[in-house]
Amino acid sequence: MEPSAKPAPQPDLSATQQCVMCGMCVPHCPTYALSRNEADGPRGRISLMLGIHQGRLEADEKVIEHLDGCLSCRACERICPSKVPYGALIDAGRAHILATSPERGAGMRRLRDALLLRPARLRLVGLAARLIQALRLDRLPMPGRLKRLALLAPPLAPALRAGDHYPATGIRRGAVGLFLGCMGPVFEAENLRAAIRVLNAWGYDVHVPPAQGCCGAMHQHGGAPDKGTSMARQAMQAFAGRTLDAVVGVSSGCMAQLTEHGGAAAFELTDFLIRHLPDPMPALNPLPRKVAVHLPCTQRNVLRTGDTAVDLLKLIPELDVIELPGNDRCCGAAGTHMLTHPEQADALRAPKIEAFQALGADQLASTNIGCAMHLGAGLRADDRKAEVIHPVRLLAEALRIP
Ligand code: SF4
Ligand code: SF4
Repeated sequence: MEPSAKPAPQPDLSATQQCVMCGMCVPHCPTYALSRNEADGPRGRISLMLGIHQGRLEADEKVIEHLDGCLSCRACERICPSKVPYGALIDAGRAHILATSPERGAGMRRLRDALLLRPARLRLVGLAARLIQALRLDRLPMPGRLKRLALLAPPLAPALRAGDHYPATGIRRGAVGLFLGCMGPVFEAENLRAAIRVLNAWGYDVHVPPAQGCCGAMHQHGGAPDKGTSMARQAMQAFAGRTLDAVVGVSSGCMAQLTEHGGAAAFELTDFLIRHLPDPMPALNPLPRKVAVHLPCTQRNVLRTGDTAVDLLKLIPELDVIELPGNDRCCGAAGTHMLTHPEQADALRAPKIEAFQALGADQLASTNIGCAMHLGAGLRADDRKAEVIHPVRLLAEALRIP
């Protein structure tokens, strides 16, 4: 007789028992605020996962809908006095859904796997999307998800090559590795170049090792947490064997994933720069304009580094730096959520766009690529010319390079 295959380990939902159902997290939940349905809030979702854990509840269509609607923004986890690890729980909950309904979300996973780690394809998709935007073809009838994808692409710059080394300018203080992210070389090339320029001016050599791969966040939060964790560890391996003070990256979502699951020290760029201000500071040109700063959930609730981008931008003379009102709420991007739950994503984005317009700011800055793309699509849909940029772009612009 053939030995039976070892069953896959069950996703661990036991931490649901840590929740005392006090409800303190509920008013902080953006999806509960929209629907006012207990099952769309953290306490309700934990109750559903507890029911599954205890074998009292099947993950039927209704249950899946409530769990799937979660943004993984972790505002609830941040506020929880009982330290319920909500982020890990909802990741495990999604793994349970995938194990019991493998066809659910298969299209989105196929799209993810077809584009991630394939920069040439990603660039083609980006160019096609920009063409659709330029010719306003999105006004023509086309499938809803395709239209959303087309509106997401930011302006593209020539891709950044991995494998290069950029020496510090001025007095050398150390060396860092720069994590690119799977979408970075295509959609964040300008941000990455600006990061190199500023890190060099801060006195750091910048190493950009090849074969970095993807941080694994989309897998981590998309029903395959084990795969996500192994991708994060593999990404950090690309920096092994080099003498580096830190691994830094421009996207807070990637750096949150690498910090939690990569197994080695990783820093979001603005956090690193504010912790390592040079003395004396390089001269910065005045930038007489107004910038609103959006704070991503990964920075606020996961990395918990706070307003480092605001603190950094306040170093630039004559730059009027304002925190975007409503920064305590998710913008609705939430990884692939902006594609899978378009109505909820748009409802959460709308107050951000209104707040930006009310401020009369010239630019909107965000440290996370997903948020920047989602907010940028919101601005473009409103026919505004403003683009969402990474804060480091302003710093690079203000630097006087001798
Ligand atoms: S997750 Fe925490 S804050 Fe929310 S109901 Fe449970 S114990 Fe209370
Ligand atoms: S992670 Fe965010 S959306 Fe999900 S339950 Fe917690 S607060 Fe609500």
